[in-house]
Amino acid sequence: MINFYKVEDKWAKIVKNSTIAVWLMVPFPRKLGKVEASSIQTESVTPVNKKKGTPAYHPAQVRETAFDRPRDWLGNRFIYAVISSRATGLSLGVNINPDKKCNFDCSYCEVDRRIPSREHKLDVEVLAAELRKTIAFIQSGKLAELPSYRTLPSELLRLRQVALSGDGEPTLATNFMEAVQAVVRVRALGGFFKLVLYTNGTGLDHPNVQRGLELLTKSDEIWIKLDGGSQSFVDKVNRPDVPLEKILSNILLVGRIRPVVIQSLFPSIHGEEPPFEEIREYALRLKELKAGGAQISMVQIYSAARPGINSEWGHLPLRVLSQIAQTVRQTAGLRAEVF
Ligand code: SF4
Repeated sequence: MINFYKVEDKWAKIVKNSTIAVWLMVPFPRKLGKVEASSIQTESVTPVNKKKGTPAYHPAQVRETAFDRPRDWLGNRFIYAVISSRATGLSLGVNINPDKKCNFDCSYCEVDRRIPSREHKLDVEVLAAELRKTIAFIQSGKLAELPSYRTLPSELLRLRQVALSGDGEPTLATNFMEAVQAVVRVRALGGFFKLVLYTNGTGLDHPNVQRGLELLTKSDEIWIKLDGGSQSFVDKVNRPDVPLEKILSNILLVGRIRPVVIQSLFPSIHGEEPPFEEIREYALRLKELKAGGAQISMVQIYSAARPGINSEWGHLPLRVLSQIAQTVRQTAGLRAEVF
C-alpha cells in the first residue's frame, strides 16, 4: 500500500526558463477537504452570479499573465494564437469545430454554446492559407510588435506547436482527415512544426480519424483528455454522451500504436476538492491502460486557467494538483507533471 505520509515536502523542479510546470511532492492526506483560499499557483476568481446559465466570473478578476490570455484570432477565421503553459509558449490553434460540436459538456468548458458560431464548417483551403500567412507573420517578427505581445520574452513567442483543437471535439469533424492533410501540406512546404491533436478521445476509432492519424509523424503528439476514473465522476465533470469505457478503449487503441499524452483537468466543484477515492480510481485506470499496452509518455495535471461559463467550478491549488500527480506516479508509475 502506498504511504503518502512518507513523501518528503519539497519543490522538485521548475521547468527551464519559465515557471510553467512544477513538480511538487507533499504528503497526501487520506481525505481531501475544502479548497484553500491561498493557492500558490492561481488566484481565485469570484463568481458574480451563481444562477445557472449566466456568466460566472468578472473579466477584471481574471488573473493577468501571459498564459491566461484568451485566444487571439489575429483577423483569421480558423487559426488563432495562444500562449500556452502546456505547450511551453506560443501555440497556433486550428479551430476544427467552428460549429462548437462536442459530445462532452464539461463543467469547466470555456466555449459558450449559447452564442451562435461565427462559422459553421471548417473551410480547409482557408485554414491552409491562414496557417501559412500566420506562420509567416510570426517568423517575420511582426507578432512581437503587437501591443499584447510586446512585453513577452522572445522565448514565449517561438512557435511551439500547431494544435488541432478549437471550439469542440476535433474527432467529430467530418472533414478531420482533410484538415490534418492540409496542415501537414503547409508544414511540408514551409518548415517543420510539431502538430498536436487535442481530443477527448471519443472519435479516435472512427475510420476517417484513423486515416488522419496516419499522416502524423513521430514528432507529432496526441493529447487525450481523461478527467476521472469512474463513470460517476466523469459524468459529473465531463457529462459525456459516451461511456468512460469507450474513452479508455480508444486510449488503448491509439496508445498501443504510438505514445500519447494524457491531459487531465481537475476543477474544484462547488468549492470542493476531488475526493481521494476518485483520484485513486483515476490513477488505477492509468495503471490499467499502461498494463494493457498503452504507451503514455506523460500525464498532464492541471486546473483551468481561464473562467468558463458555469459557476460551480473553480481552480484547484497547486498543492492539490501536486498530490494528484504524486498519486499517478506512485500508483501507475507514469511521468506526471503539474501545469
Ligand atoms: S471536451 Fe473540450 S470542447 Fe468539449 S465540452 Fe469539454 S472542454 Fe468543452
